[in-house]
Amino acid sequence: MIEFKKTAKRTRILNPLKGFQEDMIDFEYRTDPLTGRNTTIIKGMLGYISKFLTSDEELLQSLVNKTRANCPFCPENVRTNTPMFPKDFLPKGRIIVDDAVVVPNLLGHAERSVLVVLSKEHHLKLKDFTPELIFNAFRGGITYLKRLSEVDPAISFPVFVFNYLPPAGSSIFHPHMQVLARDRPFYLTRMLMENSKAYYEKNRTNYWTDLVSAEKKAERHLFENGNSEWLVPFAPLRGLNEVQAIVKGKSHLLELNEEEWVELASGISKILQFYHKQGYASFNIITVSGPTNEHLDYFNVNLRMISRPGIQPFSFTDAWALPYLLWDGEAVEEPEQLAERIRAFMKS
Ligand SMILES: [Zn+2]
Repeated sequence: MIEFKKTAKRTRILNPLKGFQEDMIDFEYRTDPLTGRNTTIIKGMLGYISKFLTSDEELLQSLVNKTRANCPFCPENVRTNTPMFPKDFLPKGRIIVDDAVVVPNLLGHAERSVLVVLSKEHHLKLKDFTPELIFNAFRGGITYLKRLSEVDPAISFPVFVFNYLPPAGSSIFHPHMQVLARDRPFYLTRMLMENSKAYYEKNRTNYWTDLVSAEKKAERHLFENGNSEWLVPFAPLRGLNEVQAIVKGKSHLLELNEEEWVELASGISKILQFYHKQGYASFNIITVSGPTNEHLDYFNVNLRMISRPGIQPFSFTDAWALPYLLWDGEAVEEPEQLAERIRAFMKS
């Protein structure tokens, strides 16, 4: 019932790299099986932009040192320089889970917007994002969301967001996760929910269950981690090393049990190890959740993660007009090839 639709396209040029001989350039249009959104696969683009994806280590280190001085999230400042929750919301003012500290956001992105400081360390390489560290952040985020659901159950659409380092949109170096919650879904969440509902009404099956069973046989499958399934999406949203996880049988974040959070954290950590091995330093993650006040048979909690460009004086960004304003997708290599590289890394 799920259709993986792709169309190959070619164009002819006279190539200066080959003495102006006639040459062919290949493209592929892929239609996202759920939303119908186009993603163009540009073969060879990863090699072309790869010099922008690693970091200038000297520059990175000097920025780490510079931002360390007045960092509000470092251990000596986090209790004095970050906001606290009002006493009627949380008598202790902050949620602490081992090294993770949950605090309200001074400039929020949603009506309820909080931050989870992940570690005592001001800077972490991607290999140092351990499953424990990520799991503690999730525990902190869930503790907050549970309290929020008691106080204001109408605020039922939460997302967990990681923007790590400035290329990923973060103004603060120190590793942190955002928890954004509001009474209405974010656009992607709404689009995925509406399309999943239409799929369910048409086929009487859950799209995500069908997707997992189709992908398990496909070249894009990465691994199964308990109740979560990890894969490279057929038509990535952004396409820079994009990985997706789907949690089976759960439609919103508050339905996940502790084991499932451990599995998500360890899956993320594995992919970050792969990013680190490629020389990357920056990434984004989002979780997509249905409403926390009801179970939806047609929807599943899912997660996307991508790597971002490196820290360099050139300031290259992959947030250019095509994905950012035209809302089309682009992938810099074939998803099947990325999946092959990740599987090979995990075997090594
Ligand atoms: Zn810091």
